[in-house]
Amino acid sequence: MPQNNIVQSFEILKKYFGYDYFREGQEELIRSILSRTDTLGVMPTGAGKSICFQVPALVMEGITIVVSPLISLMKDQVSALNQVGIHAAYINSSLSSRQVDLALQYAKEGRYQLIYVAPERLETKEFLDFALQAKIGMITIDEAHCISQWGQDFRPSYLKIIRLIDQLPIRPVISAFTATATKEVIEDIICVLRLQKPTVVVTGYDRKNLYFEVRTPKNKDAEVVDYINKHPLQCGIVYCATRKNVDELQELLGSRRISAVKYHAGLSDAERSANQEDFIYDRKSVMVATNAFGMGIDKSNVRYIIHYNMPKNMEAYYQEVGRAGRDGEAAECILLYGAKDVRINQFLIENVNSNDELTESQKDLIRERDEERLKIMTFYCFTNDCLREYILRYFGQHGESHCDNCSNCMAEFDEIDVTEVSKDIIGCVRECGQRFGMNVIIAALIGRRIAKLTVNNMINSAFYGKQTSMSEHQLKHVMNQLVVDGALYLTNDKYSIVKVEKSADAIVSGKKRVIMKLIKRNTIIQDTDTSRVKRKSELLTSRGYDLFEVLRQVRIRLAREEGMPPYIIFSDKTLTDMCIRLPYDRKEMLMVSGVGENKYEKYGQYFMDAILEFTNGNKEGISYGTIQGEGKPKQNLKAKGVKAKNDKTKSEKSEFVLTDEMRQTFEFMESVTLSQFVEQVNNLRDEQQMKRLTGIHLTARLMDEGYITEAYNTSLHRNMTTAAEMGLQMGISISMRTSEKGNEYEVLMYNEEAQRLLLSML
Ligand code: ADP
Repeated sequence: MPQNNIVQSFEILKKYFGYDYFREGQEELIRSILSRTDTLGVMPTGAGKSICFQVPALVMEGITIVVSPLISLMKDQVSALNQVGIHAAYINSSLSSRQVDLALQYAKEGRYQLIYVAPERLETKEFLDFALQAKIGMITIDEAHCISQWGQDFRPSYLKIIRLIDQLPIRPVISAFTATATKEVIEDIICVLRLQKPTVVVTGYDRKNLYFEVRTPKNKDAEVVDYINKHPLQCGIVYCATRKNVDELQELLGSRRISAVKYHAGLSDAERSANQEDFIYDRKSVMVATNAFGMGIDKSNVRYIIHYNMPKNMEAYYQEVGRAGRDGEAAECILLYGAKDVRINQFLIENVNSNDELTESQKDLIRERDEERLKIMTFYCFTNDCLREYILRYFGQHGESHCDNCSNCMAEFDEIDVTEVSKDIIGCVRECGQRFGMNVIIAALIGRRIAKLTVNNMINSAFYGKQTSMSEHQLKHVMNQLVVDGALYLTNDKYSIVKVEKSADAIVSGKKRVIMKLIKRNTIIQDTDTSRVKRKSELLTSRGYDLFEVLRQVRIRLAREEGMPPYIIFSDKTLTDMCIRLPYDRKEMLMVSGVGENKYEKYGQYFMDAILEFTNGNKEGISYGTIQGEGKPKQNLKAKGVKAKNDKTKSEKSEFVLTDEMRQTFEFMESVTLSQFVEQVNNLRDEQQMKRLTGIHLTARLMDEGYITEAYNTSLHRNMTTAAEMGLQMGISISMRTSEKGNEYEVLMYNEEAQRLLLSML
């Protein structure tokens, strides 16, 4: 592959999409495609699969045909491409035949670089005519798992793809993308699409920006209402197990003045699509839905997903929470567990199997697998270990045992010894002949008179009523712990039976103790004020959120004017980056992640005006957050020995570090502002090699360590940074200035001692 192709790819990434770096896997996939090798990318939702074929489509000669299963997905992707200035169109059943003819005509004339098409269309006469005449550079199959009969979403029409490829005079390069990582599906994709010696890139399954939490509230309705009220400006989805649940919850939210819409298979097509649009266009902030909602929804600013019920398995759960935080910004996944959830799911498992045309033994096999998966899902709700690790382990990947971004990692636990109760549970299961489910065992231990116990003479057992001081819930918790530890196990029968494992002997004989971790009340870091949850990945100060809200309103206005979903104008991540960088001009605006040249021309000015007004034209010393590096590549251009066209390309420079030499040559001044200090330090670096130090970084450090703080300025009507007591002691002083408009404001000055402090922070 010519090396300038990859340089061109970096330029396209910056120019059109406004990003500086490729994320994990992207560069490798793009390099593979550009070397004309068939390529399969397996990346989780939100990882950035689209760019992997969109960027090469612009570098390669000929048009790229993207096969995509859903109309809404195509429409979204094409709008997003047009927004950044890339010519693309789609062909599906939502177009009239005249529109289809026109689109194909333009495609033939080479006006589009990409054309999206539904698989059903591939064998129509007009499409075949086009395909046989056009110069096709690549065929991309999005959601490629739809070709596999192993996957849940098999679409027979995907088989048309291979028939189309066979008819083409020259075989283009084939690329395929999916988020489904099971071995069978990957093998199927390669085999059915007949990929030739493909490059297969499977990236990690982890979505670091997602926070996971399990709650077991007494009243789920109240919990949902409370959560939404604490996040009033954010968009979220609440998934419920049944249509009835959806209807009731949406009604309840409506009665509490929460703007929620609903979605399930029982609604008319028109109602479903109107509700979906209201949500996507940010006209309604909450979607209450069954699992029928979500496939093909590209909305990138979904900030939370609440599961009102526990889903039936981890696959479904991870797919549904995958719809949160696609823009890479922090998002929360809250699962509300209730004992009934297991029963609802068992009922659903039974019902699905009774409807189809499978043989009895096939049904049994499927049911058994489903039961097993339900068990694993249930344990997710009980584990005290890192929730992220639990999920990743399930998908065959190992994370770190402590992620610092889930309810278990963020909570403090009390350890309690439950060995004696455990002995009774094990003893009771044995005495019952290992013939009953959990509920019967619990009933025996707390001394309830139920028929099964009377008939089996358990009433006279020594274990009957032996744990009356424990609640049903507590006993269930201990039993679940014993299952997780492998002392008990649950069969996969229709009614799960509790059995005792060999390892239980060590507990009964007193050789092994059973310790359970119980979350201390109120130790999970709870939402401090409305919608301002302080999670690990959140970046803005409270004033920063105010600016974010101003920019969000600008985005909503522009989106309305253009009839676009707001996230297609700019993602939440891009707005956050604006709040941190506070761009005033073109150069600064193009530094913002997600602002490419086209979007700058269209929208840049509106956002700069808003920022200028918010900061009163003076951003000196203001810090609304800390810049977080996005996707810095492990191997960048330099590491690969590729010579960039322009030696000053940002991606080539290393991060700023204060070298010993710079420290020694730094000349202390009597008194400087922070910007002067930063400028002086920057002048000492090798600017060809090293990125600039930014004042924002230092301001954040000073704030974190208590040297400066925010205070309200009455003439400017906003918070400004000012010196804290500790800063004053360290040589920071306050100098009063007057702006051109006559407003008084403070500027912080740093004497020699304070400059030494700043140097020590680098
Ligand atoms: P997927 O198809 O894998 O679910 P998308 O292609 O929709 O993911 O990308 C998710 C989000 O990530 C989009 O907002 C996209 O613009 C952004 N993104 C993709 N690549 C990068 C990158 N290299 N740097 C920053 N953001 C990126």
